[in-house]
Amino acid sequence: MNYTTIMHDNEVKQNILKCSRCGLCQGVCPVYEEIKNENSTARGKLMQIWGVKKGDLRLNKKILQSLDLCLNCDKCKINCPSAVNTTGVFSKEKKLNTLGKFLNSNFMFNLKLSMLGFFSIFKKSPKLENGSRIVYFQGCIAKKLKKDFKIKGIKLKNGNFLCCALPYLTKGREDIYEKMVEHNENIIENADLVVFDCATCFSAVKNYPFKNLKNKEKLIFYTDFYKNVDIAANKNYKITYHLPCHLKSGGVELSEIENILKSFKNINYIQMQKAQDCCGFGGDFFIRHPKIAYSISMKKAKNVINTNADFVLTSCPTCLWSLQFSMFINKLINKNNKIPKVMDLNDFINNFCTVTLKKQSKTSQDANTHALFL
Ligand code: SF4
Ligand code: SF4
Repeated sequence: MNYTTIMHDNEVKQNILKCSRCGLCQGVCPVYEEIKNENSTARGKLMQIWGVKKGDLRLNKKILQSLDLCLNCDKCKINCPSAVNTTGVFSKEKKLNTLGKFLNSNFMFNLKLSMLGFFSIFKKSPKLENGSRIVYFQGCIAKKLKKDFKIKGIKLKNGNFLCCALPYLTKGREDIYEKMVEHNENIIENADLVVFDCATCFSAVKNYPFKNLKNKEKLIFYTDFYKNVDIAANKNYKITYHLPCHLKSGGVELSEIENILKSFKNINYIQMQKAQDCCGFGGDFFIRHPKIAYSISMKKAKNVINTNADFVLTSCPTCLWSLQFSMFINKLINKNNKIPKVMDLNDFINNFCTVTLKKQSKTSQDANTHALFL
């Protein structure tokens, strides 16, 4: 489903009026599950915004706080039977004062990321090769942590992209968002394929208001490279997988990832309970609402640990942090329990597996994948 990321006022109104108030969004909202407050659900937020628009309510602190109680996980949007662009409306209705604009400026965002980058000053910069027709979208976190990204056999070029701009859109900074989208689309325009390793960047860019819609077809998540190749782990491992919320909103289903994992030799894949539930991190939600975020992340941790797996894999840097944090806490609390090691799926393949092309290309999809490998 396509959703407009930048909404005009009339689209906001249309979306709110599409809401049938069925309440299905309540059942999938991780924040509601914690605090049981209707105002935190998509329906509650939409009704408050509508009240303000009609003049029945004043846009007060309480309403703004309700809008802020959101992990931006898109679960309400994906599960809405009326296709209401819930998170699009919330972003549009974030009204920032001068201080709010400053706190959500490019400068402040980069400052926060620089603090993050401080912890990786001793790491080498990722090696990205020039001259490839496949361009890598390196997200802000990967840039700051200087995280290496490679797919064995694929030559990747660094695209010099700016931030995917989602942090600005969700904070009501459409002005910055539009400039970044324009810059990034120009790079995509000149690429054959753009590959992502961050679920959030992938979902954000897929929902860009592209000037050239063909550019959207060039975007792929790295797991696509592993669909038509043989992968063997170097010894027997039990693994489980956490599906990032934004991978789902980017159009990648858990079953697609599971099919890849189940095809690995020497791997016993165990589906954790509620594998698609949010990890609780939500951008900077864990800083703004640490108590709620902690509680959500501990529920996730319990489901991970119950699998008794050797590894819990995922495909998003922020989910990776959240899982590392919750596993660390559980290690401290439950000293006797076996705690799975947290790792990005691509890192797991690079470090613990051998990838080979299928001997015979049985399908055109196999052949397409093979053509991309050197
Ligand atoms: S699921 Fe959609 S239609 Fe139903 S209450 Fe929520 S936003 Fe409205
Ligand atoms: S985006 Fe997620 S956290 Fe926010 S209202 Fe929707 S379901 Fe709840």
